[in-house]
Amino acid sequence: MRQSMTFIPTLREVPADAEIKSHQLLLRAGYIRQTASGVYTYMPLAKRILDKIEKIIREEMENAGAAELLMPTLQPAELWQESGRWNTYGEELMRMNDRHGRDFALGPTHEEVVTSLVKDEIKSYKRLPFAVFQIQTKFRDEKRPRFGLLRGREFIMKDAYSFHSTQESLDAVYEKMFIAYNNIFTRCGLNFRAVLADSGAIGGKDTQEFMVLSETGEDTIAYSDTSDYVANIEMAEVNPNYEKSSETPLPLEKLETPNQKTIADISSFFQVDATQCIKSLVFKVDDEYVLILVRGDHEVNDIKVKNVLKATSVELAEHNDIERLLGCSIGSIGPVGVPKNIKVYADYAVKSMVNIICGANQDGYHYKNAVENRDFTVHEFADFRFIMEGDPSPDGQGTIHFARGIEVGHIFKLGTTYSDSMEAKFLDENGKSQSFIMGCYGIGVSRTLSAVAEQFNDENGLIWPINIAPYQIHLIPINVKDKEQLILAEELYLQLKNDAFEVLFDDRTERAGVKFKDSDLIGLPIRVTVGKKASEGIVEVKLRKSGESFEVERSLLSTFVQKLLKSGE
Ligand code: ATP
Ligand code: MG
Repeated sequence: MRQSMTFIPTLREVPADAEIKSHQLLLRAGYIRQTASGVYTYMPLAKRILDKIEKIIREEMENAGAAELLMPTLQPAELWQESGRWNTYGEELMRMNDRHGRDFALGPTHEEVVTSLVKDEIKSYKRLPFAVFQIQTKFRDEKRPRFGLLRGREFIMKDAYSFHSTQESLDAVYEKMFIAYNNIFTRCGLNFRAVLADSGAIGGKDTQEFMVLSETGEDTIAYSDTSDYVANIEMAEVNPNYEKSSETPLPLEKLETPNQKTIADISSFFQVDATQCIKSLVFKVDDEYVLILVRGDHEVNDIKVKNVLKATSVELAEHNDIERLLGCSIGSIGPVGVPKNIKVYADYAVKSMVNIICGANQDGYHYKNAVENRDFTVHEFADFRFIMEGDPSPDGQGTIHFARGIEVGHIFKLGTTYSDSMEAKFLDENGKSQSFIMGCYGIGVSRTLSAVAEQFNDENGLIWPINIAPYQIHLIPINVKDKEQLILAEELYLQLKNDAFEVLFDDRTERAGVKFKDSDLIGLPIRVTVGKKASEGIVEVKLRKSGESFEVERSLLSTFVQKLLKSGE
């Protein structure tokens, strides 16, 4: 492609509203333009990358046994009412009406549509397992769209769904998908990890997220320094074996603690470590209020609260609810003397504590030397807290460290959640009606593009891995007014294209400095510069990633470039 004919509006300045490298560089290098918050145009270079990522995905999905289809973006509310998600999905669902006032949603995901399709078309176990995928624009009215393509409101997703008659069959396809995902992200050149993720109340290893390691990732990953344990901190289990305190229980005392509210306030006021205090939080769990206790240096993980209590919604209680229920404000809550209608749950760590400092449910007062089972009772102990760096690894090997990650893919054993609610059934070998067992498998295609940009760049611009670079070669005549240079460049352009390379030919009459700056910014793997040695038929070949350069004779250029591409640059 001639650069004069394509559309790559580069910018010199860093756009003010772009916080992270990939967003800044994709804007500056002319890959994307924002149309509305979280809504983007993919410019020609980005479109080529998307096509390449999609090609890789298609190959791997077909290898895994899934057939491509394309379901509608516009989804009737009836389907969402059947699954129950019309009411529970919340504000992320983009809703709209047609001219007759009927309700529709713009698809954020397609469990409903695909389940209804399969319900109508597949009646017998003989047709199972069955898997389909699509690559499509999805809509989610995200609360905080940000970081460019990483969290958009309109974005491209690959979603796949599988249907099974047995759990073993689901396990086998899930495993195939796991391998396909590893292949896809490896072929995209990414440095990633598959991590255990939260699977709701079901628990276990039934869902994994593929995380691109990056400082700017919104997810935190907990990994062991000696074993292969890796999990999203949302679900990383905490080892429940705490050493029991050997202190002798002392009498409970109520002390005046004016204006001491946070754990930091309290521990410095009492001159004790935060591990001697407990944090007490009131949550609204579905329609009930509960008190959750964790050790002062720990943080409550509301996803664990939700899973342990098998709830559908968990949120911190409002200020005025706490006032009404306990007669105090947030900084003074504690488990001693809590009204019977509020169940008290505690993290395992609390069980090992003696002589605890906690709020007295009265503003300006705390208890000292509270003892569980003497001064307060706990309805149930469980793992309610976030794992922390330095904790022992849940698999018993090594210590936990944290890393940040960008979730680019997610594979999930759904079970019969959707087939039950939507009554999607097949006849098994004995002629008995059974709900389909389902799996779903997503990849953020546009997010993957951004994640690659986030992982591969330097101070001069983007550095695309060969497999997904928009073009392999950037061909640049230094001075197009120099006849010799222009003629050689034109000839090489034809030659390289004939040899099936993808070439971006900078035929613009810009100064050399401008062309090189743009070229670094755009970040194609190989730059071929036609300069002063054009008269001798010699060009410079430079690698974007390492900065290495070579002088190559024109007749050897194709073979040379071929070798570079083969060696992965
Ligand atoms: P997140 O926790 O980041 O919101 P999610 O759990 O909502 O992700 P899924 O519903 O599993 O995501 O969607 C499948 C994939 O789609 C994700 O793994 C991610 O790569 C991508 N994705 C999800 N939301 C967005 C978004 N707003 N913008 C771009 N890609 C997204
Ligand atoms: Mg989300």
